[in-house]
Amino acid sequence: MRSARHLKFVALAVFIVMVLIAAVPFWLNRSVNDLLAQSRAELLAQQRLDDILTAMRDAETAQRGFVITGNDVFLEPYERIRGTLPAALRDAKDKARTDAERATAWRIARLAELKLAEVEEIIQLRRRAGFDATERAVSTLRGKQYMDDLRRLVAEEDARSRVRHDALQADLLARSNRSFVVSVAATVFDILVLGALLLIVMRMLRARRVIAGQLEAQAGQLAEAVALTTRHNRELKQVAELLRAVEAVPSVPDAAPVIARSLPKLLPGVSGTLFLLRDEDDHMLDLHTQWGTPSEQPPEIGIESCWSLRHGARYRTAGPNDLPCAHYRKPADEASGRLCVPLVTHDELVGMLHLEGLAAGADYEEQERLAVTVAEQLALALGNARLRESLRRQSVLDPLTGLFNRRHFDAALKRELARARRKNVPVSLVLVDIDHFKRVNDDYGHAVGDAVLRTIAQQLRLGIREGDIACRYGGEEMVLLLPECAAADAGTRAEAIRIALAAIAPHPQGEGPERVTASFGVAAYPAHAQDAEALFWAADKALYRAKQQGRNRVVTGA
Ligand code: GH3
Ligand code: MG
Ligand code: MG
Repeated sequence: MRSARHLKFVALAVFIVMVLIAAVPFWLNRSVNDLLAQSRAELLAQQRLDDILTAMRDAETAQRGFVITGNDVFLEPYERIRGTLPAALRDAKDKARTDAERATAWRIARLAELKLAEVEEIIQLRRRAGFDATERAVSTLRGKQYMDDLRRLVAEEDARSRVRHDALQADLLARSNRSFVVSVAATVFDILVLGALLLIVMRMLRARRVIAGQLEAQAGQLAEAVALTTRHNRELKQVAELLRAVEAVPSVPDAAPVIARSLPKLLPGVSGTLFLLRDEDDHMLDLHTQWGTPSEQPPEIGIESCWSLRHGARYRTAGPNDLPCAHYRKPADEASGRLCVPLVTHDELVGMLHLEGLAAGADYEEQERLAVTVAEQLALALGNARLRESLRRQSVLDPLTGLFNRRHFDAALKRELARARRKNVPVSLVLVDIDHFKRVNDDYGHAVGDAVLRTIAQQLRLGIREGDIACRYGGEEMVLLLPECAAADAGTRAEAIRIALAAIAPHPQGEGPERVTASFGVAAYPAHAQDAEALFWAADKALYRAKQQGRNRVVTGA
């Protein structure tokens, strides 16, 4: 801004000086013309007076010739002068420029007229009275006096005119010198100012170039920031989608396929393996899923076989020179990097993310940043899933036996009955009551009783199909819900369980009963009852009959 203001001032100064320089010759020309005109007028005025004097001398010469010879031939110049002189005198008076000149012109004109009259008088006298009379008249010297006065006046005016002419010449020279000096000074000044102008313009251009460069750099940075923000937003959206999907899974292992689908979108070109911590062993992790083109990985790994799990921080290998993890089946030989990221939430390990084919260079940092962010969020979501799973289990499972609890059984019975009605298929119920269980408690204590209960529960679980439901109904009474199973099949299955139960040692470690048996009451929809309550009572009645008939047997309701 300051440069622009300077530029305006300097440009204005240059303009003014250039106008002055252009005006100098014009002004010089005018003043020289003026002086020359004055000088010419001076010369002309002088010439006019000299011409009058010459004419008067010629008239005197003509007079003298005629007086001496009496011959009219000598009078020819005089006659001519008589014709021209009046006009010359008038001219001299009219063209006088000052009062002094005018006065001199008047005096000269007067003397010339007097002289001309004297010449005429002498000529006439010569004609009339002859030479001698004329000589006497001439001897009075009146005519000479006129001529002398005339000569003196013209000489004086000549001298004055010369002085004036010299002064004009000197003035002309001085003005010319002055204008030369002004011209040179103005040109030098203009050159200097133009130089300054050039400097300012160059500085402005340089400053503009610098600003343009800065603006360009800033625009570049802005575009980069916008691109980065856009990418981060897209990643955030994808991470949010992944987390939403993980939030919806019923258990941690169910999250594996969701993760395998989402991670290739978040980290394109990167292959991966997901290991999840085994439920009942907090030192072993199982391979749950892989995506991309991953290297071969063991189906299970211990915490000690991965540096990231040992140290609880991400571990990266970029090539054969880096120490590999024990779970690498072949060493990292390519330029592409590998990254192990532990999935940790609230100081608890959930699993481990193993990534391969990460880009080298600056992109690597970006991929690692994203991978770590995803791992952190994923660990949190998986931790939540695990918590949800455990809460749900707690709400439906019996803590002692791990079988479903009575609340779950009631809901499951209603649901299965409704489904059986809809699909027109049977449902069977098997009530199980341990024989003389009170004695076990009494003989070996409650703890042994609990252990025996767990063994029997496990045996029941082993004896049913997938989709069947085993519940602890209360105390030492358990119930099996067998969908799409008729009474006869249910009786057969109950019999198999009864035999297996009677055959095992119910309390393998330490002291306990050698053998435990149970009684089974079987009832089925639609054979024995139409609704949940009636079906349960039918099974209970059958169980009662089994007890009545001597225990360790299966009775099917009628
Ligand atoms: P039976 O059924 O053959 O007629 O004889 P029983 O001795 O099993 O008789 P009952 O079914 O009436 O006895 C139930 C006993 O089971 C009472 C209680 O001491 C025991 N019991 C119930 N729940 C638990 C439990 O959670 N743990 C242990 N240790 N014992 C339990
Ligand atoms: Mg009982
Ligand atoms: Mg009992």
